[in-house]
Amino acid sequence: MAAITLSKLNKHYGSLHHAVKDVDLAIADKEFVALVGPSGCGKSTTLRMIAGLEDISSGEIRIGDRVVNNLPPRDRDVAMVFQNYALYQHMTVYDNLAFGLRNKKVPEREIKAAIDRAAEMLGLHELLKRRPRQLSGGQQQRVALGRCIVRNPLVFLFDEPLSNLDAKLRAQMRIEIKRLHSQMPTTSVFVTHDQVEAMTLGDRVVIMRDGEVQQAGSPLSVYGHPVNRFVAGFIGAPAMNFLDVTIRKEGDTLVAQSRAVKLAINETSARALEAWQGRPVIMGLRPEHLSLGAGVLSRSFPAKVEVVEQLGSEILLETRVGEARVTVARVPPETQVSAGDQVRLSIQPGRLHFFDPDSEAAIVA
Ligand code: ADP
Repeated sequence: MAAITLSKLNKHYGSLHHAVKDVDLAIADKEFVALVGPSGCGKSTTLRMIAGLEDISSGEIRIGDRVVNNLPPRDRDVAMVFQNYALYQHMTVYDNLAFGLRNKKVPEREIKAAIDRAAEMLGLHELLKRRPRQLSGGQQQRVALGRCIVRNPLVFLFDEPLSNLDAKLRAQMRIEIKRLHSQMPTTSVFVTHDQVEAMTLGDRVVIMRDGEVQQAGSPLSVYGHPVNRFVAGFIGAPAMNFLDVTIRKEGDTLVAQSRAVKLAINETSARALEAWQGRPVIMGLRPEHLSLGAGVLSRSFPAKVEVVEQLGSEILLETRVGEARVTVARVPPETQVSAGDQVRLSIQPGRLHFFDPDSEAAIVA
């Protein structure tokens, strides 16, 4: 069993910089958690504290049933994969894989069996006699993964391991890491600034900002029910559109209205928004939930097309709605549409998100 529990975890760098603030997080045994957020939000520091590479300022870290606060990294039974691979350049791939086990005086026969298994999982057999500089970036990262696998640790920690790879290789390695986790389910924490990586890899995605956890949940729940504007804008690509609107009552229905837009609000949201009548709120619309065409009038609004991006599988539109820029995704590729066109954009009322303009917390997530 290797659950990881972070309780009120803090990291101060000197007296000025509070890099990790009161982080509470319970990671289940065998769970794959992706820690994601913009650069500088404290995700690597959090990971390094779990690894024991960084002292903690206050709080507690448990791995399994042990408090590891004061244990050196080698006694925590964690294996870490870094962005820069950290392979020994003068050793062959085989010796790189064997290194940690030889240090622990594991018999050569067992080392060979462990390396065979890892090489099989990662397709490394042909590379075992080469040295790291004779390998591509993707191959070096596979060796770095292999080095973790042979140790059969309680926990895998990944620090942006795919950032140095090109887009295509990153997508391939993502699949390999996912396959690896299903073949060898091991508690894993994966740090990345890339929300696609986090969403595709994580059983659970933990979004951080300025040292604090904003939200932790399954990919679908953080996408569907972001707790605040930051999470709403960070998760999902292209990013969610935001419009300033006022909540008004029109007859029996609540509407979200600005000079450019008037949209009916459905019953579920109306309950939460009733108290906001006459007040400004921020409305969030995902690009992929908007479609071209009037449909029902109370569910659509006018927009001016500014840029058309034909991707083959879909069209992306940049439009202007009043003062705001609104992106529309998944427009069918055969649609006849040009820059300068006046169009109407439709959205289902259940797809609208609303945020408090002061706290930025979701009113209806
Ligand atoms: P992330 O991994 O999310 O990009 P980090 O955890 O590396 O962020 O850093 C969090 C914050 O702590 C950043 O503002 C960074 O500048 C600061 N920081 C990181 N390491 C140090 C250090 N050794 N000394 C001082 N400040 C640091």
